[in-house]
Amino acid sequence: MRLFEPSAVSFCCSCSRERTRAALASLGRAEIEELLEELGSITMDCEFCNQQYRFARADMEDVLGGAGPCNSALIATLGDIRRIYSQTISHNAVILT
Ligand SMILES: [Zn+2]
Repeated sequence: MRLFEPSAVSFCCSCSRERTRAALASLGRAEIEELLEELGSITMDCEFCNQQYRFARADMEDVLGGAGPCNSALIATLGDIRRIYSQTISHNAVILT
């Protein structure tokens, strides 16, 4: 078992709520709508530092805008979301269901 100074942990991981939200926003309106409908809210978990970021519909309203989902064909599976998100964030991360 290895122990780290608290300052070393924060130095190692550069994730933030805003950065995580930006990665989520990059998935697109249709995917976010689908996740919110299915899960109620979206929890992004950074595996690197174990920080969890929870996003409700109100947090994503600027991405979702006033218009509803206009392309129901653009529905991704959760597996797709995990893959896209792990490509967006430089370190490994998953969405908790
Ligand atoms: Zn992190």
